[in-house]
Amino acid sequence: MKKEFLNEKFETMGPEELRPIQEGKFLKQMDYVWKKSPFYQKKFKEHGVERGDIRGLDDLPGLPFTEKDELRKSQEEHPPLGSHCAVPMEDIIRVHSSSGTTGVPTFVGITRHDHKVWTEITARSVFAKSVRKTDVVIHAVGLTFFVGGLPVKDAIEHIGAAFVPIGAGASDRVVMTTKRLGANLIHCTPSYALYLADYVRKKHNMEPSELGFEKLVVGAEPGGGVPAIKKRLSEDYQALVSEGMGNSDAAPIIFGECPAQQGMHFCAQEYIFCELIDPDSGEVIEMNDGAEGELVYTLLDRECCPVVRFRTRDRITVFTDPCECGRTSFRIRCTGRTDDMLILLGVNVFPSAVKDIIVSFRPRTTGDMLVLLDKPGPTVVPPLKIQAEYSPGEKDLGALKKDLETTLRDKLVFRADVELVPEGTLPRFELKAKLVKKLYEGE
Ligand SMILES: [Zn+2]
Repeated sequence: MKKEFLNEKFETMGPEELRPIQEGKFLKQMDYVWKKSPFYQKKFKEHGVERGDIRGLDDLPGLPFTEKDELRKSQEEHPPLGSHCAVPMEDIIRVHSSSGTTGVPTFVGITRHDHKVWTEITARSVFAKSVRKTDVVIHAVGLTFFVGGLPVKDAIEHIGAAFVPIGAGASDRVVMTTKRLGANLIHCTPSYALYLADYVRKKHNMEPSELGFEKLVVGAEPGGGVPAIKKRLSEDYQALVSEGMGNSDAAPIIFGECPAQQGMHFCAQEYIFCELIDPDSGEVIEMNDGAEGELVYTLLDRECCPVVRFRTRDRITVFTDPCECGRTSFRIRCTGRTDDMLILLGVNVFPSAVKDIIVSFRPRTTGDMLVLLDKPGPTVVPPLKIQAEYSPGEKDLGALKKDLETTLRDKLVFRADVELVPEGTLPRFELKAKLVKKLYEGE
């Protein structure tokens, strides 16, 4: 494999060289937070922590976690940006909104310096995802508010590729523009890539591979890492599918999957410090090969809204064995969101894993599904109700239901009650796929 880097120095740096750099930036950021962030001044005081107690990254577990809900509350109580905003509005050059998967969205501001940092991290991540100067990139993600929009544009332009801003929900324009410009790469969500494949087959009477994309760069939801979805996308488009992952409160894309396809590399080496924790006890777990837990971020270089020990609710598996691409950073796969996780008779079930199985039954199913919840989770009394779409060609619905339920029980160890519904019944998502329907909220 050809070894290519955007920032070779940091992407190939060994841990013994990186750690002192992270330490230095961490202490500087701690000084800044203690001086400038009213949110953390109050929080640390309440937890009885003083600046002098924190002498290095080893002391980080002594600091309290920051929850998304606290940031949301801070913003409600101290508008417009919250007491975790550490700069005056005149220093802010852009305001994004975090895509609220739960509750009200929150604003996230960046200064000129933060913008530079975001661009560097995001560019390293998309470069790992095989974006190159020679590419013509169809950007089929909304450019407004969402951090997967403009910041990704900045990163792609930083690499020097040709950026084509199409936005979301404009599939005919994607088809026409791709052909006319000879675009070879599409950046979108995995759900949109699935949607577009169906769309061009039905509306344009063509195979998705005829669009001519060599690379699919996907992100913003775990789908790109779900094996059945990834397999289906690479077969449909005959293209390399690379996934990425970020966080609106940390940086737009922080992890990028290299062509070795063995997980997503950490690409914010000197900008973000990651911890892995047990989501129940909050205890720190060592990031050894194969370790699983929740990802926690501490920003090491942020002016506008620094966060310390921010709980992402992303549940990950860590890989630390050497990668043939030459990057030295650890890799992850995201297995779901801890707040999406359901527990059936003590067994953890992620809706994305259910989706993986429904998709693997294509063409008998369309791949579209919803988990139905009568009551708030995570504990669910079996059977778990699931709606799945069957394909028009499928004649024996009784057998399909039985096969799905058996596979779900064998692979994910829980009892399901699958209701089969005709193609087109379930909502299609062009941006982020919703896998759970909460019946008790009357949605
Ligand atoms: Zn790699």
